Amino acid sequence: MESKLLNILAIFAHPDDLTYYSAGTIAKWAEQGHNIITLCCTRGEVGSLRSEITKEQVAALREKELKAANEILGVKETIILDFPDGGLMNGLELRERLVYYVRKFKADRVVTLDPWASYEVHPDHLIVGRMAAEAGTFAMFPLLYTEQIKEGIEPFHCSDIWFMGILGHQPNCFVDISSTFDKKIQAALKFEGTLELIAQFFSPDISPYDVSPEDIKKLSKYAIRLFRSIATTMGRKVGLKAAEAFYIQKVLPGHFDNIQEQMMEMLGNPSEQPKIY
Ligand SMILES: [Zn+2]
Repeated sequence: MESKLLNILAIFAHPDDLTYYSAGTIAKWAEQGHNIITLCCTRGEVGSLRSEITKEQVAALREKELKAANEILGVKETIILDFPDGGLMNGLELRERLVYYVRKFKADRVVTLDPWASYEVHPDHLIVGRMAAEAGTFAMFPLLYTEQIKEGIEPFHCSDIWFMGILGHQPNCFVDISSTFDKKIQAALKFEGTLELIAQFFSPDISPYDVSPEDIKKLSKYAIRLFRSIATTMGRKVGLKAAEAFYIQKVLPGHFDNIQEQMMEMLGNPSEQPKIY
C-alpha cells in the first residue's frame, strides 16, 4: 500500500469500537510493518446490562478483551484513558490529551469514529471522533498547548484522518481485507461482553439480560455471519471479496484539504471515484 512505514494512531471511545469497524485494515497495516498504536478514551465501564456486576469489573473485563484482540491484530501499544463511559466527557480536556498523543507518537495517520455520522446518538462516539479529528489537525501548531512543548513534546503534522464505521459521507476509500478477514473475526470474537450487550442485534431470540455460555457460542456464529455480510457488501461496491470503507481527509493546518470537493458537492456534482487499497 504505502512504501513508507507510518505511525498510525487509532483513537476510539470504547474497547470494541476499532475492532468492529476496522480490524481487517488494522491487521493489514500491521502485517505491512506500520506501527499501530490504539488509544481507547474510556474504559467502557458501563457496557453491560447485568445489574450485579460493578463498573470496575466491566472495565477490567473489557480491557482484557481489547488487549486480546489487539494481540491478534498486531497492535504494538494499547492505551486506555479514563474519560467517563456514556457520560458527557469534557471535549477540551480530551482534545488536549489527544494532541499530546498525536505529537508524542508522531502520528502520520489518525483513524477514528466519524463525528458527522447521521443519527449517531452516542455522545462518546461524537465527542471522541470530533476531538480526534481536531487533534490531528491542530497538533502541528507550536503555540497550542505550549506546556506540552516545554515538556519536550514536539508539534507534529499529521497527514491524514481516516473516519471509520458508519460514515456521514460516502466512502472515498475501500481497503481490501480479504487476506485479514479471519483475523478480524478472531479479534471481534474476543469481545464476549459486546456479544452479550448487543445480543439482539445478532439474534432477536436471545435476551441480553440472560446470556448463557451456550448463547455466546450461538452469538459468535451469528456475529461471524454478520461481519462477513458487511465486508462482502462493502467489497461488492468496488469489486472486492471483502472490504472496509473509510472517508479520508487530508490535513491542512487547522483544516481539511477538501475545499474544492466540498464546493463541487455543494453544486450537486458527484465526488471522484473512491480509492482502493
Ligand atoms: Zn462505542
